[in-house]
Amino acid sequence: MMPIMTAAILVVGAAAGAVLVKLLQSGRQSQELRRLQEAYNQLDQQAKLIIRTDFDLHRIQEELDRRLAFLMALQRLGRQLQVSLHPAEVYSKLDAESVTNFGFTKGLLGLCGSSESVAWHSVIGVTPEAAQQLTRCLTGSAFLKQLLTHPAPLLLKTDGVGEPLERQLLDLLGVPVAVMAGVIPQAGPAGCLLLGRDLGGSVAAQADEELVAILTNQLASAVENSALYEEPWLAKQELERKVRQRTYELAEANAQLLQLNKAKSDFVSAVSHELRTPLAAVKGYASLLGSGQFGALEKPQKDRLAKIEKHVDALTQLINNLLDIARIESGRVTMERAPIAVEEFFATVQDLVRPQLEAKRLRYTPDLDGVTTLTGDPQHLQRVFLNLLSNAIKYTPKDGEIRVQLRKDGACVLATVSDTGCGIAAEHVPKLFQEFFRVSDPANQQVQGTGLGLALVKRIVEAHHGQIAVTSEPGNGSTFSVRLPLA
Ligand code: ADP
Repeated sequence: MMPIMTAAILVVGAAAGAVLVKLLQSGRQSQELRRLQEAYNQLDQQAKLIIRTDFDLHRIQEELDRRLAFLMALQRLGRQLQVSLHPAEVYSKLDAESVTNFGFTKGLLGLCGSSESVAWHSVIGVTPEAAQQLTRCLTGSAFLKQLLTHPAPLLLKTDGVGEPLERQLLDLLGVPVAVMAGVIPQAGPAGCLLLGRDLGGSVAAQADEELVAILTNQLASAVENSALYEEPWLAKQELERKVRQRTYELAEANAQLLQLNKAKSDFVSAVSHELRTPLAAVKGYASLLGSGQFGALEKPQKDRLAKIEKHVDALTQLINNLLDIARIESGRVTMERAPIAVEEFFATVQDLVRPQLEAKRLRYTPDLDGVTTLTGDPQHLQRVFLNLLSNAIKYTPKDGEIRVQLRKDGACVLATVSDTGCGIAAEHVPKLFQEFFRVSDPANQQVQGTGLGLALVKRIVEAHHGQIAVTSEPGNGSTFSVRLPLA
């Protein structure tokens, strides 16, 4: 609208000029001439004023557009900064699009270390060499110190009375105008922002300072947020590192233990094996002597020989158990996976323990609950139930009761052997399956044993991929449960 008005005024002015010439030529009506001259001068003044106002408005409009573009770019950058997880990431978020939208052509954003140096994380429109030189110029300079202690941005201009360093910075950037500011967060590392552009102008330069101040404030809060996030993140990382380290150490220790355990099993196995031969010889010679082949024996001599044989039998049993435990542990024994007819299996077991049951007048109640088959090694599983039953017999007083119960439990068979015996105190339960462990109360001392029976039972059950557990109450009996998979 303004240019049209200006043109109209100029046309009217030109027409008035023509009339004036005519009047001059004619030399008449000098009064009108003067008036017309005044009117012409006023019109000329107004035309100039309008032109000047139009030009100023144009410039303000341009500045407003620039600010709007800057604020929109700031909003875009703000969204990107929200997802920054580390302070260093914040300093790398300045990109070419943001620099252009901020109204600049060059941009550098970097992190300032404690040694008053700067490491650029975003470099836009500047060569790596120039960026390096800028770093060298700024490192340790009073200028950088000032930026990092005073949040107000600094305007650098070639036509200003700047210091030599400022001129050098502008030269390296290759621009006539630049704004530099410190990013000073309350938490996290400080940084430095440098933006340069080709065109000067006092209104624009002042606006640059204000907008850059907003930008550096936003950067500082993003660094604070990410620093707050970084702390627990680093703690979590450290925790994970420690867990990994401990897991590795445990795995190492476990491997060593396995090796030691194997060495122990090998040793026990070798010693047991070596002992069996001389023991067999001792037993052989004792029976030979006892048979009277080398002369008739008196009763006391026979009694002593019978004792030798009994102890040799016990020792052989102990050595056999030790040997079996060592063999199963080292994986040298493979368990058969055969179907076992349950009724027949438990009838045999019952036959084997019948003399002891009868000797203590114990009631024996088997309850197979329709379970017909077990899967496993018949010989080894017989040892499991013989051991559990003979323990139940040993630790149950006369006239007590022993029950064997079977039931299907999913893909397993759960077999329990319960007694009404002396029971086991809770503190002993975790050690029951260790080799040579025996409860050390006086009642238990009366009963003979080696402390190897349950250790062997557990190895056999586990070699069948089963589990063994015990529940017991002192004075009220115990229940040993064996879970064996069917497949
Ligand atoms: P032991 O040869 O001593 O019986 P085991 O390994 O079979 O060795 O048993 C270890 C210990 O567990 C026994 O000494 C005994 O104290 C305890 N124990 C095992 N079975 C029973 C049970 N049914 N009732 C009470 N105590 C038991």
